[in-house]
Amino acid sequence: MSIPEIFGSNVFSRAVMKERLPKSIYKEVVSVMENGGMLSSSAADCVADAMKCWAEEKGATHYTHWFQPLTGSTAEKHDSFITLPDADGKTLTQLSGKKLIMGEPDASSFPSGGLRATSYARGYTAWDITSPAFVKEQSCGTVLCIPTVFVSYTGEALDCKTPLLRSLEAVSAQGIRVLRLFGNTAAKRITASVGPEQEYFLVERSLMEKRKDLIYTGRTLFGAPPPKGQELDDHYFGKIRTRVGSFMKDLNIELWKYGITATTQHNEVAPAQHEMAPIFSTANIAVDQNNLAMETMKRVAYKHGMSCLLHEKPYAGVNGSGKHNNWSLGTDLGENLFDPGDKPEENLQFQLILACVMKAIDKHADLLRESASCVGNDQRLGAQEAPPAIISIFMGDQLEALIENIVYDKDETVQAGDLDIGVSTMPVLHKDATDRNRTSPFAFTGNRFEFRMVGSSDNIASPNTALNTIMAEAFCDAADELEGAEDFEVACKAYIKKLMKEHKRIVFNGDGYSKAWVAEAARRGLPNIPCMVEAVPVLTHYDVVSMYEKFGVFTAAELESRKEIRYENYANRVSIEAKVMIHMAGKQYIPSIISYATSLAGAVSSVEAVGVDASVQKDHLLKVTALLKRAQTGLNALKAALSEVEAMGSVPEMAMAYRTTVVPAMAALRAPIDELEMIVDSDFWPVPSYGDLMYNV
Ligand code: ADP
Ligand code: MG
Repeated sequence: MSIPEIFGSNVFSRAVMKERLPKSIYKEVVSVMENGGMLSSSAADCVADAMKCWAEEKGATHYTHWFQPLTGSTAEKHDSFITLPDADGKTLTQLSGKKLIMGEPDASSFPSGGLRATSYARGYTAWDITSPAFVKEQSCGTVLCIPTVFVSYTGEALDCKTPLLRSLEAVSAQGIRVLRLFGNTAAKRITASVGPEQEYFLVERSLMEKRKDLIYTGRTLFGAPPPKGQELDDHYFGKIRTRVGSFMKDLNIELWKYGITATTQHNEVAPAQHEMAPIFSTANIAVDQNNLAMETMKRVAYKHGMSCLLHEKPYAGVNGSGKHNNWSLGTDLGENLFDPGDKPEENLQFQLILACVMKAIDKHADLLRESASCVGNDQRLGAQEAPPAIISIFMGDQLEALIENIVYDKDETVQAGDLDIGVSTMPVLHKDATDRNRTSPFAFTGNRFEFRMVGSSDNIASPNTALNTIMAEAFCDAADELEGAEDFEVACKAYIKKLMKEHKRIVFNGDGYSKAWVAEAARRGLPNIPCMVEAVPVLTHYDVVSMYEKFGVFTAAELESRKEIRYENYANRVSIEAKVMIHMAGKQYIPSIISYATSLAGAVSSVEAVGVDASVQKDHLLKVTALLKRAQTGLNALKAALSEVEAMGSVPEMAMAYRTTVVPAMAALRAPIDELEMIVDSDFWPVPSYGDLMYNV
């Protein structure tokens, strides 16, 4: 089958609706999608019925409201289309408009951070008409999935989608005010576009299943480096191995069926690390599709006898996985607000928007950092061998020169120019205005910004909600300042200059991974927040709460609850990791090392018994037993640290204690065991090594 035949075949798309709905109903649906409002109940019934018939033709027996609670994954509860049997015992199938639009799952088991007492268990799911329904083939049957928001009985958001939708409305409303200043009366809306590049690792499943750490936590908690890591740079863009290739081929087909425009596929830097990127789409759809893509990657890998690791740092010592969140703002008429055009130096609108970006990112660097934090990302950001968790913007030479010119009233131009390769048969290439800078967490890449801090397993709703809202605030401030200006051009130029001057410190074009940058960023006063627990408090800072409330994205209560949930999540995950380490060290590593030491001791005495020098064996035994002792001490210390923290009362206090006492105790236990792995006979080693895991797909 060709791509056009496969693409979107599992999606109840606009095209399907157009074909299957009466004209007037279709028009009503499109109008609600584009302008908001409510579907009439008769229209909802009609859409629901068409959806059900279409899904049944695809083999569906059930439907579900598909939502994104604050657990970090998606949730679904299936209900069949079956109706009450009649007197003859016959049954029909049905999906009513009411069931399409609203659901009421018992929500008491989802995280609410104190927003909802368990005794008030009601939560509501409500259809998000802007994201298309789709069918998902699963082992339990084919299910019609209806994307929904998830809110409490009193209307507070209990999910990732609700605030994202609110932020999209906010940035649109405020952005339009800015466009009106430039005489643009035609654009009706501004939309955020997002293209997430998804990195992942593949691992042979039978090997992965021998590692309790991978099973329970998604990352290795022990493991000595293999003889070959990523030093040769030979994996990046390298030839795709057969098994990985057949996984990618199947994955593409599955994603295309869901209308996900999977396009880029390549090997990433670390061994067994890869990337998939779709073509960008509107933020809401990109978020839903990224969730669906992550789920699909796991399912397809399983079919191929592998496991797909989405954790940010499955292996120490090699690159971790992120999700480059390409983000831009554009109008409903197709104008990209981040496109500098041919002459950015004359493009006042672009300059103002750029100044707003600088202000937004500088003012809310800590919030943006928080929006990209998850427990796994702590291993990837700010920790050892990881880029520092400092937010800065890479602008590239052209825009940096533009900013310098504006701030210092200079007139120097930087042209990208042509590239002559020096081979007569090669064409002269036109260079891009910006080079790439892989070390920047927030990089301008020609007509969009690439936010690279986001973790590979994370829901991208959170960073995009933050980005949209901080831009809404910057747009709002600009419009407030300039709407009444007597001479708009003069006022606008002055305002741009003021913003760029104030927020220039956030621009950094150099090597973001260097030590010098950490010192320079500190000198500039930029926050460097190495850990999630330290990032979380920003959610209830005064300026963050007032911004989110002003633009209707989060209430103070919702932010308070999210903070609580994030602390809880941190504490729970670190606790699980510590327990897995205790289990592996106590029941696998230490007993195996004892067996090895015992066999060494036997070797020493039998060699000595025949009067031969056994000093090598003895030395080795001494080394092993010394490390064994350190491992046992480390294990005892970790157990003690864990029980101390578990006895604490408040969740924030606990989260902080996990960070300051349990995490270092975990590292202290890991170190001797990793050292032992390098010297213990591999026949005695109880689990597959890094080399086994990384080089067997
Ligand atoms: P890179 O070379 O940075 O690795 P990729 O091709 O892997 O780039 O991914 C770039 C992503 O950016 C793609 O998802 C692409 O569709 C997306 N993208 C391109 N233009 C825009 C835009 N204007 N807004 C948002 N995303 C965009
Ligand atoms: Mg890429």
